[in-house]
Amino acid sequence: MPVEFFDWGNIMNLKISLLLGSVLGLIIIIQALVRAIWLNSIGILLIAIALIFVTVYISTSILLKPYQKLIVQLQQFDTSILNGGVKHFQDYTAINNRIARAFKKLYKSRKESITLNSSSLVHQSIEEYLFQDIEDSSDQIYVVFQPKVNLSTGDHVGAEALVRWENPKVGFVPPSEFIPVAESSGLIHSLWERVMIEVCFQINKWKDLYGEDVPVAVNFSPMQLQNKNLVSQVNQILEAHSVPNKLIEIEVTENAVLTEAAINTLNQFSAAGFKIALDDFGKGFSSLSYMFDLPLDYLKLDRSFVDAIDKKKNGRELIKNIITMAHNLKIKVVAEGVEELVQLEYLRECKCDIAQGYFFDRPLSSSEFDDKWLKARGVEMDEII
Ligand code: C2E
Ligand code: CA
Ligand code: CA
Repeated sequence: MPVEFFDWGNIMNLKISLLLGSVLGLIIIIQALVRAIWLNSIGILLIAIALIFVTVYISTSILLKPYQKLIVQLQQFDTSILNGGVKHFQDYTAINNRIARAFKKLYKSRKESITLNSSSLVHQSIEEYLFQDIEDSSDQIYVVFQPKVNLSTGDHVGAEALVRWENPKVGFVPPSEFIPVAESSGLIHSLWERVMIEVCFQINKWKDLYGEDVPVAVNFSPMQLQNKNLVSQVNQILEAHSVPNKLIEIEVTENAVLTEAAINTLNQFSAAGFKIALDDFGKGFSSLSYMFDLPLDYLKLDRSFVDAIDKKKNGRELIKNIITMAHNLKIKVVAEGVEELVQLEYLRECKCDIAQGYFFDRPLSSSEFDDKWLKARGVEMDEII
């Protein structure tokens, strides 16, 4: 599918001005020719022909040079995209910015509109590819699972589902880049459905494979919680896959739950037996007030707090107090982004309930997850298959 990365309208304007310039030049040259023939002078005729060559040479080299350079850049850009050579969104943006700069040089007076055009076109093309992959049920959209570990027993106690998108044209795009696009374009609902169905499929597979329930945390976007039918839509999917509600943890970030509609939705989820987790706790400013209104089961301590354990002056005290406060309110604490032993040891000392992070595992594909989970229980994969 060809994608227009640039404002071809601008190029058309350039073409029109070149065309007008050439027509004017031609008129002057033809006039000189007619005069030479009229006067029947070979000398003037030769001078006129030489003038034609000089004019054509000067106009093409001066007028067309930036235009040709730009076209070459555009072609390289298009080819690299089409060949799947642009592996990452950042490269993609960098190239687009480079071309935007070329445009700026060419159209000094239109700086603003060109910058805007360039970023919105990146957004637009990401959206087109994402839409296509969702529509096609492409396996370029998939879910990975990061294990969660009980800190007092060391057992795996569940997982967080994290969506991934890898398209041959745009490369790997991190969720922090494409989820905002999915939200603003309305694709988030279809994307979330894909994630939810995949989670149900895995929960059933794990039940068959391990003979035990694996609770899975699913991230919900702020926008989704405004949807009054969300709880019944989730219920429908779970019923269709015979997955009990208690196995799904609804993860919401604090900026997601500001509105009354969102709080209502979460109360309905909780009443229906789902678990509720407040994600990224501590990242924003008003987290504590949510303790009044939300039916919280888990509080997910943001990675920046875990990072502060051995780096910030009051890091340890703050974490200890947050954990104590949550426990007093009968809320369990999940520490995110645990990467080092010193962090793990301190969290354990503070009686933090659950942890996840690179120290244990990165988010894993479903088969990697099987391997880890079963190994942790002393079962080799080949014994099952
Ligand atoms: P999150 O929900 O806070 O997810 C945790 C993020 O931290 C994940 O990034 C995970 O890969 C990363 N992470 C886990 N352990 C560590 C660690 O030890 N160190 C470091 N540096 N990072 C760690 P990811 O997968 O890139 O997701 C980013 C965000 O995108 C998520 O943050 C979540 O807000 C959003 N997201 C991911 N999947 C979904 C989804 O299916 N739906 C929605 N609505 N949002 C999602
Ligand atoms: Ca999360
Ligand atoms: Ca988080």
